[in-house]
Amino acid sequence: MHDDTILAHKGRHPFANHGIVNPPVYHASTVLFPSLDALEDRKHQEVVYGRQGTPTIFALREAMTALEGGHGAVICPSGLAAVTCALTAFTQAGSHVLIPDSTYFPTRRFADTVLAKYAVEVEYYDPRVGAGIAASMRPNTSLVWLESPGSQTFEVQDIPAIAEAARKGGAVSVIDNTWGAGYFLKPLALGVDVSLQAATKYVVGHSDAMLGTLVANAATYPRLAEHWSNAGNAAGPDDVYLGLRGLRTMGVRLRAHHAAGLKMAAHLHSRPEVTRVMHPGLRDDPGHALWKRDFTGASGLFGFVLKPGPRAALAAMLDHLRFFGMGYSWGGFESLLIPTDPAAIRTATRWDEPGQAMRIHVGLEDIDDLIADIDAGLDRYASAL
Ligand SMILES: *Cc1c(COP(=O)(O)O)cnc(C)c1O
Repeated sequence: MHDDTILAHKGRHPFANHGIVNPPVYHASTVLFPSLDALEDRKHQEVVYGRQGTPTIFALREAMTALEGGHGAVICPSGLAAVTCALTAFTQAGSHVLIPDSTYFPTRRFADTVLAKYAVEVEYYDPRVGAGIAASMRPNTSLVWLESPGSQTFEVQDIPAIAEAARKGGAVSVIDNTWGAGYFLKPLALGVDVSLQAATKYVVGHSDAMLGTLVANAATYPRLAEHWSNAGNAAGPDDVYLGLRGLRTMGVRLRAHHAAGLKMAAHLHSRPEVTRVMHPGLRDDPGHALWKRDFTGASGLFGFVLKPGPRAALAAMLDHLRFFGMGYSWGGFESLLIPTDPAAIRTATRWDEPGQAMRIHVGLEDIDDLIADIDAGLDRYASAL
């Protein structure tokens, strides 16, 4: 099955449910057992307790496992819950963890606060290190984290090289694959053990629910699933249903985000108010060759840097946009634009751009309307310089 067929068919069993196309939403805590024998034998029953999963949740697990080519999946109530589930599943007191410097900030914050509290040693590495990661591996390195492209600055990592070094060093590798959405990037086929998504973004796709997914290979799934279960990481059935519904159209949405994002990136590149565009799909981007090798497309999220200017110019630009909203998260149908501060959240590498960094999400609106909106904003920026 090709990806778009997986997205349309996996996790659906209509004739187990009166022929109805979509799976039912099971609201459940208690699950009853018909006899003492059944109660005592519950480990062999598929549905035992709401928190452990219902057919609604099994449907999303099945679809995500197929999409990312894994052995099994667990579903968490947010992307960050999936991050913390993986960070705690594959570490213990005394272990050492490698995390790319460009990782999503709340991932970093959890590592620096909670993991540190349990005596896990956290080390940040240059996301562009590639096979050089081997030099940072220690006998107690239990987990190598990846995120590609990185949050805010969009560095593309050499995923197979890093995954191989992790495996050789006896560590588990986990990638935050939210940007590639399991559609434009297949990390497990590149040697990574676990692929994580903030399904809040493109899987849900409509800015109306929060979910996290973790798809693991056969070697790591049992450990991950047991930890997930022990931690009580259950997602609500209505949100899981919205994840399933979003998944059905994710391919067409992502292809539209890809095309519009590239068009916008090239346009921003041509504007004199923009000093740098951080989009791996652009030929002169430092990550372009790796992106081309490992990815089959680009999502709608990327970064750019403005020519230095006062805060009033930035406000003039942002406060009067028609279609771009200002707010956190991304991956919905709508466009977003926010300022970012890469220098504030890195320790292993430097961020020296003098101008304001921005993060843009190109949504599903007409691209000409979006470009006109950005052009008017950049004109206001230029007039206020
Ligand atoms: C948004 C995001 C997360 C966290 O997802 P939530 O559902 O908001 O908790 C994790 N990783 C990346 C790369 C993200 O962009």
